Amino acid sequence: MLFTYKYIKHDIEKLQGFLDFLFYDVWLVAEGDFDAEKLNGNPDLKQIYIDFGNADFKWGNFFNSSIEQIYSEFEKIKDDKFKLELIDLYDANNNVEVLCNDKSKLPISYAEIKARYSDLEKAINDFYSKLYGTESPFNLDAFGQLNKKLIPSHYEAFMTDNNEEVCPFCGILPIKGNNHSYREAYDHYLPKGLYPFNALNFKNLAPMCHECNSTYKLTDDPIYEDYKKIDPLKKENNRQLAFYPYSENHPELEIKVELTSKDIKNLKPTDITLEIKSAGNEEQIESWKRVFGIEERYKALCCNKNEGLEWFNAVVDGFENAKEMGVTDFAKWVDLKLREAGRNKLSNYGFLKAQFLTECRDKGILNAST
Ligand SMILES: [Zn+2]
Repeated sequence: MLFTYKYIKHDIEKLQGFLDFLFYDVWLVAEGDFDAEKLNGNPDLKQIYIDFGNADFKWGNFFNSSIEQIYSEFEKIKDDKFKLELIDLYDANNNVEVLCNDKSKLPISYAEIKARYSDLEKAINDFYSKLYGTESPFNLDAFGQLNKKLIPSHYEAFMTDNNEEVCPFCGILPIKGNNHSYREAYDHYLPKGLYPFNALNFKNLAPMCHECNSTYKLTDDPIYEDYKKIDPLKKENNRQLAFYPYSENHPELEIKVELTSKDIKNLKPTDITLEIKSAGNEEQIESWKRVFGIEERYKALCCNKNEGLEWFNAVVDGFENAKEMGVTDFAKWVDLKLREAGRNKLSNYGFLKAQFLTECRDKGILNAST
């Protein structure tokens, strides 16, 4: 990615707090039948559970029955070693930064839980798959209305602190900021259908442009090239480092464009070689390129007649106009245009445009008589 977001603290985190409490203090230590007393450690959640029980409505019933069902499945498991392992794995699934930066840390997937305790996996999956979205019990008043209130409020605070209004994952498309009445969707960076426990962890959620989210990334996994095809026993060997969207130390990427054709008007993606470098971040760059289709999209931009070709033509045509104002040195004119193109990397694809024009100059394609 071209840059990272700043993580913000927000009330919405209390929902993950409820889930952490349920996991560590209720489900993992399940013993005997479930009742409201099991929630004594979290009086707010206990009250919500009691109120839902008295009210008898769909989402409230779903929430209560789900936490009871997961409790009951944990209660049946007498394998303390598995439960102890699960503590580390729950922590791993929620520590997205560590999973991105440390390949020795392994997440747990639904498939792995299913292979050992299929009823437990079903109970967890049934619950977690509903937590984010229009069917979430967290949309209820008692939880502060996730979709109607908490997410819009989080988005506004998020965009106040993250106001570039450009998608950091591609740098191509805008991100709607606070001057818009609509917002971008949040993406689950580690796919929520693959990994349990992090569907409402906002360190695993990031606003993303529609094209990145719904066309390219979909359910691709930044930390495994193809998780489903990996032998669970060998999964350690297939881990991939990835950029963490909230990293405070994101490297500057060096992007180079190389053209193997001088026919700029008929440029094809196969005429372009893209080199994206940052020392020590080779794997993260590969993960990013794979998940977001970066090579395809950047090459398509260079071949687009209203982008790449227009960047080129604007320099050539601009010189014709500049000549009327007494500018005579084409090389100096090109240098000026290159500096302008690269002045702001996030404006008008500056990160790519400047490199594309530099290559056109270096290849001798850019000249006044074109
Ligand atoms: Zn994007």
